Amino acid sequence: SKPIVAVVGRPNVGKSTLFNKLVGERIAIVEDTPGVTRDRIIADAEWQNHHFTLIDTGGIEPHTKDDIMLQMRIQAEVAIDMADLIILMVDGREGMTASDLEVANMIRKHNRDVLLAVNKIDSLNLENNAFEFYNLGIGQPIAISAEQGLGLGDLLDEVIDRI
Ligand code: GDP
Ligand code: MG
Repeated sequence: SKPIVAVVGRPNVGKSTLFNKLVGERIAIVEDTPGVTRDRIIADAEWQNHHFTLIDTGGIEPHTKDDIMLQMRIQAEVAIDMADLIILMVDGREGMTASDLEVANMIRKHNRDVLLAVNKIDSLNLENNAFEFYNLGIGQPIAISAEQGLGLGDLLDEVIDRI
């Protein structure tokens, strides 16, 4: 069967926006309110004739900081269990957070294949924002803008290289 690629990351980083772009349909729900994705969402995706299953691990709606941490842990566990490749998405405008680091550590501890997508890099002058995420210790940050469709080809090239 097809390789599974799971997108994890804290609420509001743009997981559902990326998912919809890659799947080519508005399946996942994108909202300005953090954490509105209602369930785990799964769809087929394809790049250069490579087919894979994409999972948006958004999950239930967290309301407090503790909830967000818990949800991140659950997301990461699901991804670690199911995925052949994990895309950890972070917010290049807000910078690195404790929950980004916690998930990165979980993924690293389990030795899972991971790509680091730094989202919301909507213009060239924001590209330097990606560098600090080297500190997550899971490899080279890939700057993208899910909304503007920037860097997605590079990200997908890496995806099909790794699956
Ligand atoms: P999720 O909670 O991680 O699934 O995030 P969403 O996909 O729902 O997006 C959360 C918010 O970030 C929405 O307001 C999106 O429009 C916005 N967003 C997503 N991608 C980008 C991007 O590349 N650039 C900017 N500036 N905003 C983005
Ligand atoms: Mg979502």
